[in-house]
Parts: sequence; structure tokens; C-alpha cells
Amino acid sequence: MEPVIFDRSDGQELRINMIGSWLKRYFGRKVVKLSIDGGFTCPNRDGSKGRGGCLFCSDSGSGDMAAGSGDIFTDLDQQITLLQDKWPEAAYLAYFQSHTSTYAPAESLRGKFRAALSHPKVQGLAVATRPDCINEEVLDLLEALNRETFLWVELGLQSTHPETMRDMNLCYTLADYDEAVRSLCSRGIRVVTHLILGLPGETEEMMLDSVRHVCRPVPVPGTEDGHIFGLKLHMLNVVRNSAFPSEYPGYVPFDSIEEYTGLVIRCLELVPPDITIHRISGDAPRPVLIAPEWSWRKRTILNMIHRRMRELNTWQGKNCGI
Ligand code: SF4
Repeated sequence: MEPVIFDRSDGQELRINMIGSWLKRYFGRKVVKLSIDGGFTCPNRDGSKGRGGCLFCSDSGSGDMAAGSGDIFTDLDQQITLLQDKWPEAAYLAYFQSHTSTYAPAESLRGKFRAALSHPKVQGLAVATRPDCINEEVLDLLEALNRETFLWVELGLQSTHPETMRDMNLCYTLADYDEAVRSLCSRGIRVVTHLILGLPGETEEMMLDSVRHVCRPVPVPGTEDGHIFGLKLHMLNVVRNSAFPSEYPGYVPFDSIEEYTGLVIRCLELVPPDITIHRISGDAPRPVLIAPEWSWRKRTILNMIHRRMRELNTWQGKNCGI
């Protein structure tokens, strides 16, 4: 079988459908994602679904790098000004990253998303949320936005296994996720799914099962079965400002980078080639990171994965029918 090569930029053969390359082809120039804290909270923190949040979630709502002064336009403008010299021709996506970015009345959401889109250099939106926070009003708003700008919606799933979901205090179900994907896809909205590798109690086969589940065709009446648009895979990052360390003291998700990168490659082999890959490592800030202590070495991890895939002569999707 001939390997599938997605990109040959920088003198390298990339065997993964990385979102950076995809966006560059789609927009015809470099695209930079700017993390924004839209001032949302989360139903797993305010008591409507749970308290304390998902065990691994930092007190910033997994948005440690996000700007959040309360003025969305200004936060974006400041980030763009800082990047202007480095990438003068770049386009930007506003990434509503922190907490649950659809957890507010639709009117309030509309104001925040419109504020981001009012910046002349912002060409689209990425909205991160939970699978149980996509109601009809939100869907109507997202569908309207999707018609006029570039949009994807990120759904934190993390695992498809009920016992893991319970132990990690996620307070949503796999059925919530399946329904959210079906609803978003039926309105033509791109979906990006998050999975975490290395959660306590999960074997490799369980993690591969989660990958298989989220990569299944999505049954949308009246259309050919499609897929989710993208996938984010990352290792569990044990961070100080979360509940995880006190519940699982001393827990280390992977013994070595090699163990993690080998697993990522076996996951990617199951992912259909047209699904874009948005992340294959973690990005917890070093000051709060407890384990794995190497997880901040993102560039090293990526290079190891790319190099090992060439050595093994494998690629994303090699085993996707299996
Ligand atoms: S990971 Fe997401 S859903 Fe879980 S507590 Fe944090 S913001 Fe809420």
C-alpha cells in the first residue's frame, strides 16, 4: 500500500492531516487561532449539573492561555498587534476556549461572537463547549453564523466509557455527545471532538475504542454519512489547579514519551484521512504541570510522532476500516 502524504512542507513528509496545513490550503495563507475567555462558566461548576468541574479541569476552565479582560475586541486586537510583525499576512480565528462557550442565553452568545467577528482580521470562530450545552436556540445561532463565516464547534468528550466519565465527574453522557454531533452535522456545522489519552483505569483498547466511536460516520437524514471535521488527542495533563491530584495522588499517565507517541500513532491509524487533526499533545503551562513532566515539550513530541510514522511507514487512516 502506498503511504498517504498530506503535506511535504518544510522538507518533511507529513503523514497526518494537520489542521494548520489544512487551514493554509483553505484560506490561502497562514491562519492563527487566538484564545479568548468569553467570560462563561460551566454547568459542571455552578451546580446545575455538578460542582467542582471535571477532575482534570484547571480553575481557568481549561483555558490557561486565554485572554479574558471582558472586552473581546480589545483582547483580540492586542494579540493580533503582538503577532503583526511575525505574520503580517495571517488570518485569525477567534477561539472561545475557556469553560463552556455556549453556556449562556443565545442573545448574550450572539453579542460575544459578533464582537469577535467585528475585528477586520478575524476570519472565523472556533467555539469550545460541552455536548450537553447545545440547545435549539444555540443551534439556530450557530447555523446562522456558519452561513456567514468560517466556524467549527469543539465538543469535549474525553472518553466514551461510562465508568471513566463517572470517575472523572464529567456529568454528561455518550448519548449527549452523539446527539450533539448529529444536531450540529445535520445543520452543516463542523465538529471537532476532544479525547484525552491516559485517563485512570483505561486500557489501550479502551482508548482505541473511543477513537473508533468518534470517527464513525454520522447518520444525518437526507445526506450521505459524513464524519466529524476534526479530532484533538492529548495526554492527560495532571495540573496543580485541578481536583485530580488530590483524587489520584501520584498518578502518572504515561511512563515515557515513547509510550505516549506509540499510542498516538495507533490512534491516528484508525482516523479516516479526511478528519483534520487539531492536537496530538498537551499544552498545560509548565508552572502548573505535575505530570507527565515532559508534556510541555510539544515540539519534541510532534517531531517524534512524525519521525516514527515515517520509520514505520504508516499514516493517518492506514487502519481506519478495521
Ligand atoms: S473541562 Fe469543560 S466541562 Fe469540564 S469543568 Fe472544565 S470547563 Fe466544565
